[in-house]
Amino acid sequence: EQDLKKMEALWSVTDENSEIYSINHADGMPVEVEDMTADLLQFALTMSRQTDGALDMTLYPVLTAWGFTTGSHQVPSDETLAQKMRLVGYDKVSLSGSTVTLRPGMEIDLGAVAKGYACDIITNNLKANGVTSGIVSLGGNIQVIGKKPDGSDWQISIEHPQNGDSLGMLSAANASVVTSGAYERYFTGEDGKRYGHILDPATGQPAQSGLASVTVVGQEGKLCDALATAFFVMGLEKTQVYLEEHSGIEALIMTEQGEIYLTAGLKDKFTLNQPYQHIPVYALKP
Ligand code: AMP
Ligand code: MG
Repeated sequence: EQDLKKMEALWSVTDENSEIYSINHADGMPVEVEDMTADLLQFALTMSRQTDGALDMTLYPVLTAWGFTTGSHQVPSDETLAQKMRLVGYDKVSLSGSTVTLRPGMEIDLGAVAKGYACDIITNNLKANGVTSGIVSLGGNIQVIGKKPDGSDWQISIEHPQNGDSLGMLSAANASVVTSGAYERYFTGEDGKRYGHILDPATGQPAQSGLASVTVVGQEGKLCDALATAFFVMGLEKTQVYLEEHSGIEALIMTEQGEIYLTAGLKDKFTLNQPYQHIPVYALKP
C-alpha cells in the first residue's frame, strides 16, 4: 500500500510533484530521478528497442492531441498530428545513470509499463514477508503468488473485449497475467469510428492491428505489461515472430474477427466459458 502510493507519486503524469512531471517540464534541462524511476525508464527503453518501437513512452504529446489525457477526445488534424509526431521517439530520450534529459516539448508517460512494474515490487515484498499464496491485482495487471490455499491453481477470468463478459478462465500459479486492449479506453468520433487509447508510434494513430485484446502470461509483471501493449500494436504476425525469438512468455490473443490464438503453454490452461465454446481457437507459435 505504501509502496503503491510512493510509486504513484513518482510516476503520475499529471501530479505536479511527480518525477515524470518534472522530467516533462524541464524544457531540455537534465533531471535527477530516484533509482527506482531510472530503473523503470531503463526497462521501458530496453523494451522499446526489443519491440522495434511498438512500445514508446514518448507518445504523450500525441495522446494529448487525441484527448486521451484530458477526456476531451477529438480526432486531431493531420497538421497537428505531424507536429506532435516530431516530438516522439524513445531514441531521443537521454538516460545516463539517474539523470534524464528530454528535448524541449517532449513528454513521457509510463502508463504502458508502470502498473506491471509496481505489481512486481508489491509481489516481491509480500513474498519477502512470508506470503506464499495470494493475488495482487492492479487495473488489468494480475499477479498470483503460489497456488490457492487449497492447493489448486488460481482461476483468472479473461474479459471478452467486445461485450465485457467473462470469456473464459485461465488457470495460473506463480505467474503474472496482463491484458491490454483498445476496449479498455476509447471514444467514438463524429465519423462513427472507434478510436482506442493504444497508439501506433509509427503513425500516431490508434493501433489497428486487427487485435481486440492481448493477454500475456509470464514471470515478471513489467515484462508482461510491456509486451501486452506492444503486441497489441504489432498484431498477430509480428507477435508470432517475437514469440519465436523469445522464451518464457505465453500469450492469449483475441482478434477483432473473434478468433482466439493461444501459445502452446496455455492450451491446457484456458477454458472458454459456456456461451463462448463455439469460438475457434488456433495455435500461436508453431
Ligand atoms: P496498457 O494499458 O498497459 O496497454 O497501456 C496503455 C497506455 O499506455 C495508454 O493509455 C497510454 O497512456 C500509453 N500508450 C499508448 N500507446 C502506447 C505505446 N504504443 N507505447 C507506450 N505507451 C503507450
Ligand atoms: Mg502494458
